[in-house]
Amino acid sequence: MRTRILDQPIDIISMEEASYIAEKALINSRQIKIVTLNPEMVINASNDFEFQATINNANLIVPDGTGIIWALKLLSPDLFKDAKRIPGIELCEKMLITANELSKKVAIFGSTNNILDKLSYAFKSKYPNINIVKTVDGYQGKEKDLEIASIMASCNPDLVLVALGSPRQEIWINTYAGLFPQSIMIGVGGSLDVWSGKCKRAPQWIRDISLEWLFRALSQPQRTSRILKTLPRFIYMVLREKFKRSKS
Ligand code: UDP
Repeated sequence: MRTRILDQPIDIISMEEASYIAEKALINSRQIKIVTLNPEMVINASNDFEFQATINNANLIVPDGTGIIWALKLLSPDLFKDAKRIPGIELCEKMLITANELSKKVAIFGSTNNILDKLSYAFKSKYPNINIVKTVDGYQGKEKDLEIASIMASCNPDLVLVALGSPRQEIWINTYAGLFPQSIMIGVGGSLDVWSGKCKRAPQWIRDISLEWLFRALSQPQRTSRILKTLPRFIYMVLREKFKRSKS
């Protein structure tokens, strides 16, 4: 079910449904662009027309951030009382399992060559049937974007993982999606760092109490300042919307 949160579209579905959609797309070689939405992205999109258009163009927009679920439940408690997070990293892992079963081709853009080497090594033992057809590091400057997209597209990947940080990764996907008519494309943020072993995800008990975002904020200081810039505004806007609705 597609709804809106502070003017941004969002699909309220379960992890099972999201991975089913991805699995079908992988089997049928059909393009889908996936956005994993969090509060920071909602605020950034409200100030950035290109990013806003990018989110609108996505085929699947899943609630990655705890704050998105909080807002949905606060604004529409009856409709969304059972809504759950779909962490992008977990959705991706499900896609990788399917890609492995189907011996699909994966291309990866982003992060450093060191991380990409470690990742390729880790994938070889975890997903031995996946063919990593191309890896390209994410520190080459925007002027190389088209060239990189063309090189990656020429490898005909079934799954394209893009880790350039948001919103750059989502905008890159939206800009060059025309070159990848048969690929699933998803912005994976820091997931490559986790899969390569560079970073650890929050322990399960922290995820269970919905504080993974705080764990990440505290373990990556550059993220703390990003969150502090957008989270108070997100909370303010959600509360303002709630107030408006309760008056009308
Ligand atoms: N990254 C990149 N090029 C850049 C900026 C970031 O390749 O110009 C990579 C970075 O190495 C990391 C990934 O993008 O692997 C995700 O960055 P970040 O943690 O900011 O994203 P988030 O997880 O918050 O979406």
